[in-house]
Amino acid sequence: MLQALPGNPYPMPTAFTTATPLADDELRGATVRRPAPERLKRRLKLDGAKAAQGAETLGLETVGDLLEHLPRDRREARTVADLIDGETATVVVDVKQIAARAVRRRGMRPLVEATVADASGSLRVTFFNQPWLVGRYPPGTRLMLHGKADGRGRFTVQGHAQTDQRPGGVAAAASTPASGPASGPSFATVGEFVGQETTNSPTVEQRAASVAHYPATDGLSSTQILALVHQHAASFDDVIDPLPVAIRLRERLTDRPSALRAAHFPVEPGDEEQGRRRLAFDELLLAQLALQQRRRHRRIASAAPVLNQTSELTSRWLKTGLPFPLTGDQQAAITAIDADLVSDQPMQRLLMGEVGSGKTVVALYAMLRAMEHDLQAALMAPTETLAEQHFATIQTLLGAEPVRAGLLTGSTPARRRADLLAKLATGELSMIVGTHALIEDTVEFNRLAVVVVDEQHRFGVSQRAALDRKGSGEQRPHVLHMTATPIPRTLALSRHGDLDHTTLKELPRGRQPIATHLCSSEAERERAYARIRSELAQGRQAFVVCPLVEESETLQARAAVVEFERLKTGPFKEHKLVLMHGQMRPAEKQEAMAAFASGAAEVLVATTVIEVGIDVPNATVMLVEDADRYGISQLHQLRGRVGRGQHASLCLLFGRKDAVRLQALERESDGFALAEIDLQLRGQGELAGTRQSGEAMFRFAEFPRDNELMERAHRYSRDVIDADPDLKAPEHALLADALAALYGDEARAPIRA
Ligand code: ADP
Ligand code: MG
Repeated sequence: MLQALPGNPYPMPTAFTTATPLADDELRGATVRRPAPERLKRRLKLDGAKAAQGAETLGLETVGDLLEHLPRDRREARTVADLIDGETATVVVDVKQIAARAVRRRGMRPLVEATVADASGSLRVTFFNQPWLVGRYPPGTRLMLHGKADGRGRFTVQGHAQTDQRPGGVAAAASTPASGPASGPSFATVGEFVGQETTNSPTVEQRAASVAHYPATDGLSSTQILALVHQHAASFDDVIDPLPVAIRLRERLTDRPSALRAAHFPVEPGDEEQGRRRLAFDELLLAQLALQQRRRHRRIASAAPVLNQTSELTSRWLKTGLPFPLTGDQQAAITAIDADLVSDQPMQRLLMGEVGSGKTVVALYAMLRAMEHDLQAALMAPTETLAEQHFATIQTLLGAEPVRAGLLTGSTPARRRADLLAKLATGELSMIVGTHALIEDTVEFNRLAVVVVDEQHRFGVSQRAALDRKGSGEQRPHVLHMTATPIPRTLALSRHGDLDHTTLKELPRGRQPIATHLCSSEAERERAYARIRSELAQGRQAFVVCPLVEESETLQARAAVVEFERLKTGPFKEHKLVLMHGQMRPAEKQEAMAAFASGAAEVLVATTVIEVGIDVPNATVMLVEDADRYGISQLHQLRGRVGRGQHASLCLLFGRKDAVRLQALERESDGFALAEIDLQLRGQGELAGTRQSGEAMFRFAEFPRDNELMERAHRYSRDVIDADPDLKAPEHALLADALAALYGDEARAPIRA
């Protein structure tokens, strides 16, 4: 047996997913692969127009596509004796007799009737409209049939395929080459059977085979796909492994051909998962490499102003201008930004923090750094309201500092606008806050050095790129992107892996914690109302959010009216209530909001139209009816409407005590932690924002299961691009090919869609 060399970090060669080293003769006996990847590009030959249509629907054009079409799960095949009437199941059987029978009706093709059996019993099956099956499935053929038993010894076939799989076996590990190219529509039997021999005695108890279930569609069933994969099993050996061996060993991953094979044809339990992980790693790595390349291209394609002079203005502002000390997170963000700004490579940083976490202070700091160098800064927000809010916040935060700042939105009067544009062009105006109005062609800066994009996901690529081009000459501004939507880290990496990340988690000092309680019983409801009355008695205010009615807005509004009347005449009859729902006219809504904001109304009964921007520091209670109906992030957003003043606040969620999502909210106040829990509970596809944005889902990776794999892929992609930016090293050649095949020139665009 080979010995590991002293100091060799790599383990001894082992068989697939085991720690047992291979013996000498095993190593010497191993087949040498000569992959021919061009063979994977052959078009799949399918049996009939329907199947071809099905394959197209599934995106299965080539042999390569087929091999990457993994089973969704595996199910036990049934034995004939175990079939349950009316239940859809799969059986593995041998054909005993098969014959065509003419049908009287004109225009109908003959039926094919067959008797099939496994060791436990036999069935009568009928195939419609496929007379050729008599020739294809002669007695002795082993078939996999998917369908329904009717209890009278008959089986309605929904899918059928020839298979070499035997009842009692695990799916065959097809390791021998196919006997030449597929001959005709039927498939060549491939592979060696792995598993115990079955006996023909019907009295012997059988263990059913496990059958891979593939995502299928009309015209191409899971069973047919399985047959196709068997037919093309030799092509696994044509698959290229793009990963450098050193990485494969370091990351403890199997080689790609084995991974694919294992995902289809596991030999041991757990093989599929090992295989899937390897495929997921490749997929995540390539996506991260594309992002890192994009990041690098923006860096080398453009230089930014170097902001390395002393910081008189900002030091003074931090020390005496700001009415409060920075939180630790804000401090850390500023330190990171400082390091970005002294470089001539443009900053590409994403600042994540929930509403109220103090992002504006950090953004303002970055902008002031530009001003210290007699350069300009711009902040772009997605709506006029947000732009105005930012402008107001900035003015308060600036205090007495003499900074010439302006506000430019779609509703800025023409005169004012002309004045602002003139001063931006000369440099007289050093800071501008605004909306899309900022990126119009007529807006010219004298020397733009720092750009802040708030709620960056609400802008398109071209809009962000347009602002980026407002730098002077060849220079590009430093860019700080901001977002208030907490997303799980893996999602942040897959969406924004080309940016540096900073998170503000800590809420600014003086923020009141919000106690969250789950209320289920009538007694708890009474206590909740009593508690609200006592808050109101102390001069505080409360929100009541009505049950969600998804069917229609009209019904939703009606439910809100009913709840409003009930509370007004019942639990809160001593108090002033105001109602707000989506069917009210804008003026009415504004009136209701104003009444609540001024304190004239003590309780706001509302549907979820409560806008995100609403800020009533005196409100201390958020009551949500039927909270089970809302998603985690929505509830967290609602809860964020309270706890904004100097009083301790309360969130009362009405719903079932065993609702996992509500328990999470009761326990956890951090939006990022809740986003992770949401991901865990709902899976990536369901996650808020993911579906709407139509984000390309990964094919093999799943979250949160592969969170750690994503971190590794991210770290590794950075290492690779740092060491070998253009993937020119020989060990990266195959990676470069894979990347080009997958992303092409897209990876070179400096700003990501
Ligand atoms: P965001 O933009 O993240 O929603 P803001 O920057 O608007 O948050 O800050 C929210 C509020 O908290 C503002 O009124 C701001 O003045 C205040 N604030 C920000 N940082 C601090 C801090 N370190 N200490 C106290 N208050 C702060
Ligand atoms: Mg803000």
